[in-house]
Amino acid sequence: MDAERRNERRSELKERLTTVLERIERARREDGRNGDTDPVSLVVVTKTFPASDVGLLAELGVRDVGENRDQEAKAKVAELPDVNVRWHMIGRLQRNKAASVAGWADVVESVDRLELADALDSAVTRRGRGPLDVLVQVNLDPFPEQGRGGVAPDGAMELAEKIASTQTLRLAGVMAVAPHPDTGVDPAAAFARLREVADRIQGTWPTARTISAGMSHDLEAAISHGATQVRVGGAILGERPRVQ
Ligand SMILES: *Cc1c(COP(=O)(O)O)cnc(C)c1O
Repeated sequence: MDAERRNERRSELKERLTTVLERIERARREDGRNGDTDPVSLVVVTKTFPASDVGLLAELGVRDVGENRDQEAKAKVAELPDVNVRWHMIGRLQRNKAASVAGWADVVESVDRLELADALDSAVTRRGRGPLDVLVQVNLDPFPEQGRGGVAPDGAMELAEKIASTQTLRLAGVMAVAPHPDTGVDPAAAFARLREVADRIQGTWPTARTISAGMSHDLEAAISHGATQVRVGGAILGERPRVQ
């Protein structure tokens, strides 16, 4: 990328990042959270955007980035050996990709079934790399089997128990995506449901404090229902080129 284009992109990202950080801060204050002890962290979702954007975001102070495809993420990590960010896997994950993901991810947010927890556990053990932070992805759709990943709320405790029983995975909390608008489910009600699941898990594992919920269009609703982490793509990077 030539210097001029790089500078242009950098200021564009900077401006949008500032706006999103202001939105987060406002929502957090409106929820009455304490400044120092109750932060809301930001994962910038860089899927479909080039590694150069991750580099620019890191220069702008971003510490966490999210990716949803193993191959794409692995290539970016390889392009950026000196960039110090935490890589979050946020996409659906097949068991046969667990070993590969364990090679680059610092956090896997999309653990939604027992056999995936098992596969990650073996992968991290083999690499001798761990522990790996993981979140239980909860499905908030009214008809989970048609949803986009996530364990049904009823199954979340069992999955948390499984994760907590491993030596290599660190149960850090829960993650969810609001139900698809077509379902007609009120996102606020869905986020409230997620908080109930999170509270139950935290009751047993007090350090599992992360509630990862809220994206570009609904981060305020998520924060007002207890989100401690939001995942924002479009509002910072711009519209994503359509994949497939
Ligand atoms: C793409 C994606 C996001 C970011 O969505 P935006 O609407 O671009 O902010 C967040 N979470 C998950 C799981 C995603 O796949």
